[in-house]
Amino acid sequence: MRKLLLLFCAVLLFMNAHAQTDLPETKLTKAELEAHLRFLASDELQGRRTGEMGLQVAARYIITQWEAQGVQPANDGSYMQAVELQEVTPMTDATFTWNKTDFTQGDNLMMLTGDALDVETKAVFANYGWVDEAADINDYEGLDVEGKIVVTLSGKADDNSPMATFTSIRSKRKWAKERGAVAVIEVFKMSPSFWKRAVGYFSQPRMDIASKEEGAAYGWVLPGDSGIAKALKAGKKKKVSLQTGKAQVTKIASDNLVGIIEGSDPNLKDEYVLLSAHYDHVGTGKNGGGAFTAQDSIFNGARDNGIGTVAVLAAAKAFSQQPPKRSVILLACTAEEIGLLGSRYYAENPLIALEKTVFNLNCDGAGYNDTGAVAVIGLDRVGAKQEILDGAAAFDLEVVGDPAPEQGLFDRSDNASFAAKGVPSPNFAPGMRTFDDSIMKYYHQVGDNPDTIDYDYLHKFCQAYVHTARLIANKDKRPFWATGDKYEAAGKALYGLE
Ligand SMILES: [Zn+2]
Repeated sequence: MRKLLLLFCAVLLFMNAHAQTDLPETKLTKAELEAHLRFLASDELQGRRTGEMGLQVAARYIITQWEAQGVQPANDGSYMQAVELQEVTPMTDATFTWNKTDFTQGDNLMMLTGDALDVETKAVFANYGWVDEAADINDYEGLDVEGKIVVTLSGKADDNSPMATFTSIRSKRKWAKERGAVAVIEVFKMSPSFWKRAVGYFSQPRMDIASKEEGAAYGWVLPGDSGIAKALKAGKKKKVSLQTGKAQVTKIASDNLVGIIEGSDPNLKDEYVLLSAHYDHVGTGKNGGGAFTAQDSIFNGARDNGIGTVAVLAAAKAFSQQPPKRSVILLACTAEEIGLLGSRYYAENPLIALEKTVFNLNCDGAGYNDTGAVAVIGLDRVGAKQEILDGAAAFDLEVVGDPAPEQGLFDRSDNASFAAKGVPSPNFAPGMRTFDDSIMKYYHQVGDNPDTIDYDYLHKFCQAYVHTARLIANKDKRPFWATGDKYEAAGKALYGLE
């Protein structure tokens, strides 16, 4: 009996091991993965900068691989999802005059965007200039702003941090324009030193997703002791004038790449696991941000994010050969380095309804300093810890949870675009124990080139990524955010839970 049981166990073990070695991810070769990386991070691709030919060549390479592997195009017969971007350079001249106080561009006024204006009109105070019908907030209620300048407080009632201010620009311009206002001027409460840095930063050209409808002209004033908000709130001294030059807007064409592999389970295939990696990097020379020389001015981005792109190519191959139960969306994102713009665009314009996307395993990293591990940012937050540990262990890799909490890494890659919509979205990164000098040596540096990569590690890392994705896509119960996570409520809203 005992012997029989042992034999039975041995047979089971053997079957298990056999299944493991049979999976296509175990057959991916180091040579093919190295070839992908050496191409994508080659000097000829000029650092894959968004809007440049190098990135288009990278896109063509990825598409060609997907075609050969039989991946289905996700966008009406095409793998490309056009992401139109714009670079806005603020006007250099502007003056806003209220009650004999001149607010001057770059000094105590920062007009960010809009056409040239020369108006004398009235100002209307509109609290935060906020509109949220679901929350029953409308700061424009009962106000006539037609042809006038709306003066508001920066941010919103429950959050007037600089970040809330920066991220609400587009909405505030739109709400004001819809009501016929010519401009929104926000009274930006901050220290003069912070103001100086903000003005320095926002005077530079900025990239964003091209807006379909233009909003009202927009800017900030540093109020000093002018008392502008208080007086306007009390309905006093409403006469204002505004003269501005025109912000320069340059459109930049770019593409996300999206492919689909249908799942094998008749019930689960309507659910999708999204595998994403940005394929752009920062380009060459002064665009790159780091130090460069005449001999080497190309930011190759082998680690960031050649490795992640190769991991998604590896997934495309393995899953085409043997799909998991759930369907898989492959997404190569553009414009990550200039503000997570490609992923944000996809999250707002998904090619498969986002509520069908049950999980996002993003692959991106600054580099590695432990080739015995992977780092999974969000390991404990997304309801798939066991699959992540098992996926890595299958290729002899440990899993480090967030290695640098002080860096806020979770919200610094494309997974953040999907997390904000409620999709459980960790970032699967190369093995990093701390964000130390050995990382900084390559992170956004010209030295991040293919000759400095450990290809045995690349091989294991990509296999672990694919296998982890398979385990999650095969999981009986779909993963969900940990209780109390900051994205839990967004997840419940997206999936209609509770
Ligand atoms: Zn990156």
